[in-house]
Amino acid sequence: MTATPSSFIPINSAGGAGRYAPSPTGDLHLGNLRTAVIAWSLAHLSGRDFKLRVENLDRVRAGSADGQLADLAALGLAWDQPVVYQDSRIAVYEDAIEQLSQQGLVYECYCSRKDIREATSAPHILPGTYPGTCRNLTDEERATRRVVLSEQGRSPSLRLRSEVSEFTVQDQFAGAFTGPVDDVVIRRGDGVIAYNLAVVIDDAFQGIDQVCRGDDLLSSSPRQAYLASLLGLPPVTYAHVPLVLNPAGERLAKRDGAVSMRDLAGLGWGADQVLAWIASSLGVEGAEGATGLTLPEVARQISWETVNNGPVIFDPPQLAHA
Ligand code: GLU
Repeated sequence: MTATPSSFIPINSAGGAGRYAPSPTGDLHLGNLRTAVIAWSLAHLSGRDFKLRVENLDRVRAGSADGQLADLAALGLAWDQPVVYQDSRIAVYEDAIEQLSQQGLVYECYCSRKDIREATSAPHILPGTYPGTCRNLTDEERATRRVVLSEQGRSPSLRLRSEVSEFTVQDQFAGAFTGPVDDVVIRRGDGVIAYNLAVVIDDAFQGIDQVCRGDDLLSSSPRQAYLASLLGLPPVTYAHVPLVLNPAGERLAKRDGAVSMRDLAGLGWGADQVLAWIASSLGVEGAEGATGLTLPEVARQISWETVNNGPVIFDPPQLAHA
C-alpha cells in the first residue's frame, strides 16, 4: 500500500502517544536511530506525545541504556518523563499472567528449542510457529514431564492457549496485515517475562496508541495485538518501517563497520552529520551533507513515500582497528 503524505498522517483526536522502545544490548546503530527519528516524527506530526521505554528484561549491557538515551537526545529527540524500565514492572506482568491463567489461557510447556525445531519440521506446521506439543497433555503427563525437566535443572515455560490461528492488525505502511498467532511463550523457562507479553502491557500502561518500529517485528504484531485483546487492552495502530541494510543487503550490524554514533564520532561524524544522513535517507530534499538541520524541520519534510519504498542501504566507513 502506498501512503501519500496527506492521507498518511492520522489525525489524533484521542491524545495518544507514540514511542521508541530499545533493548539496551549495546549502542544503537544507524538503522535503530533512523527508526527512532521516524517514530518521533510520526508521533509529533499526528499530535501525539512521545514516550520512551527501556526493554531490559533480557540480556543487557551495563551502561547501554544511558548511552542509547544520550544518542537519541543528541539527535534532538525529546520524550515525556518518566522513561519506563521494564525490569521495574515484573509484578505487573505476573498479574497479567495470573489474569490469563484464570481465564484458562495459560499452560506449561516442557519443550526444548530442539524439540520444537524437530516438531516444526513437519510439513503441515507453519515455520516459526509452536506446534502445540504441550497444549493438551493430561495432568499425569505434565507431572512426569515436570520431573524430567527438573532433573535437567530446567523449569517449564508458560504459553498462551491461543483460541485463534491468525489475527489482523492495521499498519500504516502494510495496510491490514493478517498473520499467524500461535501459542506464544509468555514466560520463559528461565523465568524471564517474554517480550511479546511485556510489550503490550507497557504500551497500554504508557498510553501508547501508535507503535512505530522496524518491519522485522511486523510478523509479531498479530500475536501481540491478540494478546492485548485478551487482556482487555486498547488496540494500537502500527507503523512498521523498512530497515537499514548493509551493502550486501543484510540487516545492518556492528560488524559492518562504523554504525553507531560513538563509532562514527571517532571518524569525525558529529550528531549533525548523522541526522543529515538519516534525513536524506528519508527523502528530505537537500539534506545530504547539510549542517544545522533540526529534528522538527526533518520531521516536517519526510517523504513518507520514500520511507515506504523499502529498505535503505548504508555503507559504513570502516573502523581504524577493523
Ligand atoms: N525492544 C525491541 C528492540 O529493540 C523493540 C520492541 C518494539 O519496538 O516493540 O528490538
